[in-house]
Amino acid sequence: TTRKVYKGVEEVDPTTDRKVVLVTGGAGFIGSHTADYLLSRGDSVVVIDELNSYYSVDLKRANIAHNLNKHGPENFTFVEGDICDESLIEEIFSSYKVTHVCHLAARAGVRPSIDDPQIYVHSNVRGTTNLLSAAAKHKVKNFVFASSSSVYGGSKSTFFSEEEVVDNPVSPYAATKKACELLAHTYSHLYSLPCTGLRFFTVYGERGRPDMAPFKFVDRISKGEEMLQFGDGSSSRDYTYISDIVEGTVRAIDRPYKYQVFNLGKGSGTTLKDFISIVEDFVGKKAVKKILPDQPGDVPRTCASTEKARVLLGYEAKVSFREGMRRTVMDYNRRNGLKDSQAVLQGEGEGESKGMK
Ligand code: NAD
Repeated sequence: TTRKVYKGVEEVDPTTDRKVVLVTGGAGFIGSHTADYLLSRGDSVVVIDELNSYYSVDLKRANIAHNLNKHGPENFTFVEGDICDESLIEEIFSSYKVTHVCHLAARAGVRPSIDDPQIYVHSNVRGTTNLLSAAAKHKVKNFVFASSSSVYGGSKSTFFSEEEVVDNPVSPYAATKKACELLAHTYSHLYSLPCTGLRFFTVYGERGRPDMAPFKFVDRISKGEEMLQFGDGSSSRDYTYISDIVEGTVRAIDRPYKYQVFNLGKGSGTTLKDFISIVEDFVGKKAVKKILPDQPGDVPRTCASTEKARVLLGYEAKVSFREGMRRTVMDYNRRNGLKDSQAVLQGEGEGESKGMK
């Protein structure tokens, strides 16, 4: 295959030093897994999270407890607070001598952003600006932040590529994520702050977000409850397993670029129909579906081009959708005291032979 050359790429600090990483939103799904990985390899981690009630606060506290129990308090600090709080952020940067920022705190979720855009602008735009200002002032070595596949809006491309100019968001959430990219670019330009934005494509896995489809489907089908299917089932999404996302994120933290955005996805889509049948298989029950029209703000299909992340970060999604869902269902069963089905116990070999990528 031909290698694309990305213009304007400049590696400014390929450091291998032990890092002090500020993980914002580190009580959340992706943040707690990322903090776990960084702590495991010996970095220090400071988490700031306001523990908001967008979904279960108990789950967020459990995520913090998980890392504290596993790694102890020596290299791990949790600060409960709002990323928009200027004096708190200043205090964190100066007290802990933060070297790298992994900014994952945000109001996430497309549909709720239509009902309450103000809170999205507060956390996502104001919060990001506050962190960028502190990071520039304290001259951190790298500022990595979560963007989203939703910035591709109504793109008609088969594979969403970072080279496409995207300025047509279709939800307030997507607009705030695009704003984060624009602000990061500005700070990298004005203050030489290395910034990398990561456009995550629907992330799922252990301790996954209860407001997202992968968790909801497993939960509803397990309980025999009615579940909502938006559209005819032909819509397709690129689902990315959590360990692949964490690996890509850490690779980005380790490789400061002047300014870059990367897609972090699996690089292939799964239709809603196939998705539901995989979950039915692992749960061992049929779904009770209620079919509704597509929702405003939703995009019909997402699929990441992962070429740029592969070339510049050495990123590669390793976990198949079937195997990722098997682990997700196993985690759900464990947490709810349920027995694993035969399909779950049989493992990946069996899953792969059924022809799902
Ligand atoms: P999450 O909701 O589990 O985690 C976000 C955390 O940020 C939460 O614990 C929340 O309490 C915290 N937070 C929100 N506003 C805050 C504020 N003002 N101050 C301090 N803490 C605040 O979400 P996640 O799935 O782990 O997502 C992490 C990041 O990745 C987010 O920026 C999200 O937009 C982005 N993202 C996620 C996905 C996905 O599929 N999960 C896809 C694309 C982008």
